[in-house]
Amino acid sequence: MTLPGSAISGQAAPPAPVPPLLLEPDLLAADPAGLADVARLVAELTREAAAGLRRRSGPLPAMSPQELTRLVDSRLPDGVIPRTGGGRDALLALARHYAEGTVDLADPRAAAHLQPPPLTVAVAADTLANVFNASCDTWDSGPYAVEIERRLVRGLTELAGFGPEAGGVLTPGGTASNLQALLIARDAVLRDRRGADVRGGGLLGLGARPVVFCSELAHFSVARACAVIGLGEDAVRPVPADADHRMRPDALEAVLRALGPDEVPLAVVATAGTTDFGSIDPIAELAALAHEHGARLHVDAAYGGGALFSDRLRPLLAGIELADTVTLDLHKTAWQPAAASALLARNAADFAPTALRVAYLNPDDDGAAGLDGLLGLSLQTTRRADALKVAATFLALGREGVGAMLEACHDLARYAQRAIDAHPRLELTAGATLTTVVFRYRTRDKAASDAVNGALRRALLGSGRALIGRTDAADEDGRQAVHLKFTLLNPQARTSDIDELLAAVVRAGEDVEMEEEFRDA
Ligand SMILES: *Cc1c(COP(=O)(O)O)cnc(C)c1O
Repeated sequence: MTLPGSAISGQAAPPAPVPPLLLEPDLLAADPAGLADVARLVAELTREAAAGLRRRSGPLPAMSPQELTRLVDSRLPDGVIPRTGGGRDALLALARHYAEGTVDLADPRAAAHLQPPPLTVAVAADTLANVFNASCDTWDSGPYAVEIERRLVRGLTELAGFGPEAGGVLTPGGTASNLQALLIARDAVLRDRRGADVRGGGLLGLGARPVVFCSELAHFSVARACAVIGLGEDAVRPVPADADHRMRPDALEAVLRALGPDEVPLAVVATAGTTDFGSIDPIAELAALAHEHGARLHVDAAYGGGALFSDRLRPLLAGIELADTVTLDLHKTAWQPAAASALLARNAADFAPTALRVAYLNPDDDGAAGLDGLLGLSLQTTRRADALKVAATFLALGREGVGAMLEACHDLARYAQRAIDAHPRLELTAGATLTTVVFRYRTRDKAASDAVNGALRRALLGSGRALIGRTDAADEDGRQAVHLKFTLLNPQARTSDIDELLAAVVRAGEDVEMEEEFRDA
């Protein structure tokens, strides 16, 4: 064959390098030989990962961020996109090093974030989602995936107390669920109260200022969503919380009554499980106020939504059935690997803002023939079958099995609360509503409290032996002060692990106080 270039120049083309034969047909996962290869590779990778795990001494690598960077540089001198692959050896080394150097959430001393150690059943089922790579957007891109997600959503809406007209969709996280909920509220309320078609016409020329209410302790994703949907972060009106960190309905009522004539309340966002305190806003009262003023009630139950699975904790969510929309993170309190979040709506018709017909995906006549997927419910197009791992988990363990895990973590948090309360060197700031406790180390010099509490947490992180959280919480005098936080999501942790963590906190606090800069403070 003559290449066009060589014909022009009249010279012979240099021989093309022969690529190494790597692409065996069985390297495609979803054929029978490929599945066997996946099983073999997963077995090898997990064996290496187990070897990596054995070399750890805690939930974090025992080194500074700078030391980790140098270590990874030395292991990957050519980066992660080499010209030629290193084959099996490179793969196994990566698995070993990754298991050795990333976070180990199954370590009972990992107690910082709403990031659970995922269940084996969920991880294994997720492998199938990866193998088949189905997508939920159209029926023909993932028929069984679409069926499973529809049923998962139905099961979740029933647990929330919604009726048969409810709907929902899976999203990549609570941030995305909250965004879509506020998009829904924006379009629905401005249509109903102003006759505006915001989806088509945007917000310019509206002649009104949409506003959104949430507790001062609401997740930052509420404000970010308002910025994204064109309302601006200033559209968010934070409402004071009470001493138990719950939004005060009297304060909400006062600001709703004080709205100017050009201000349109779009939504009240109730938080069911604040990220720091696990506190749950009084949902029913907030729903009544929101609806009285023509606003939507969105419940951000990203964290607390797991209480739907526990008979013992379900009463905490009383009133959730009055919500218009609910965010629920299964990658928090259902022990799923990320991503798995759900946005539920009391009325499936609310998903109109994302409804879509596209010639190449879901034309009308295909839709009429039953070929629709879930494209019209989602802000995404390609969307992985995250429902599979969640459904597999519930099918294997039952709702009660998942609920029992939350109860075990709740028990641990209550134990931690009592232990902190009884400890002379610790001060409890917020006890357990769900699975968090907020506290701080009592410094000898009160003025050094923020610096010492911050430094002691970094010391624990640096040792690799304990991973605890931190946040700001109001002092007695109302000033925001640095606090420590346990977020307990390991249902296999024991009370002795809590004792060890607390002892480590106190030891680290004493060590920090001995350091030069604090000694004669
Ligand atoms: C975690 C959390 C979010 C954000 O969820 P992601 O899944 O991290 O995007 C939103 N709201 C609350 C209350 C949360 O705890």
